Amino acid sequence: MGLIYLDGKFVDESQAKISVFDHGLLYGDGVFEGLRSYNGKIFKLDEHILRLYKSAKAIYLEIPMKFEELKKTVIETVRKNNLKDSYIRVVVTRGVGDLGLDPRKCKKPTIFIIASKIQLYPESFYEKGIDVITVATRRNFNESINPAIKSLNYLNNILAKIEANNAGATEGLILNQFGYISECTGENVFIVKENNLITPPISSGVLEGITRKVVINIGENIGLKVKEEDITRYDIYTCDECFLTGTAAEIVPVVVVDKRIIGDGKPGKITLKIREEFRLLTEIEGTPVYE
Ligand code: PMP
Repeated sequence: MGLIYLDGKFVDESQAKISVFDHGLLYGDGVFEGLRSYNGKIFKLDEHILRLYKSAKAIYLEIPMKFEELKKTVIETVRKNNLKDSYIRVVVTRGVGDLGLDPRKCKKPTIFIIASKIQLYPESFYEKGIDVITVATRRNFNESINPAIKSLNYLNNILAKIEANNAGATEGLILNQFGYISECTGENVFIVKENNLITPPISSGVLEGITRKVVINIGENIGLKVKEEDITRYDIYTCDECFLTGTAAEIVPVVVVDKRIIGDGKPGKITLKIREEFRLLTEIEGTPVYE
């Protein structure tokens, strides 16, 4: 059984319970992060924790733990579970309140950290590429819950996922209110056109993906012209290569979008090169858990 960090203690998975009055549950009032460790090293730990603090700040949630302490606790959670390759979930909720939504009633945020075995995507996704479909559910306006906030309110993404499932596609491509492509349900989107590597800007309604940033750097290092600019569905249909990025997914080639075949219908050369470079980084970088 796994050991879960919950509000200052490590408890057995079966005992890791939170109140039904927790506003994370009642209202989706909270923030989270998803990280990964590779061979005993946590990849981009600082970046993920920093994004968690930014998300919390944006929703007026003060995390009752200092940055370094939280980092140590994440490392400790992986260590206590004896994991080498893991998926780590860090959640901070507004805490226990009453049935009203006023967060002033919530005296202390709830913090929990789960480290578990990573559920890898099927190898066929990487070998053959996946098919994606544009969904009807739109991204929030930046003035609503800004999609840059990794909040516990993922219902838009879940609806988009259901739409993709219903259509028999692997992933759902979400447009923003202007009709530009934002991202998929849990991944950022990239296209390759000649020597250009293009991804929608943060302002288009996307999460500032940690993998997205790593891929932008890789793109620059291998001589691509990296652009953060608005992408239309036409741009995707006519691109040379398309792929998705995310902590869990890493780099997944996309070969069909809305029944249009992308490029030659196989994972692209540049996509594969970026994936290889990304894998290399996960081997050499990261914060050691067992030292
Ligand atoms: N977009 C959304 C909506 C996400 O939830 C995620 C993370 N699963 C991403 C993009 C990818 O971000 P990252 O590379 O930091 O995992």
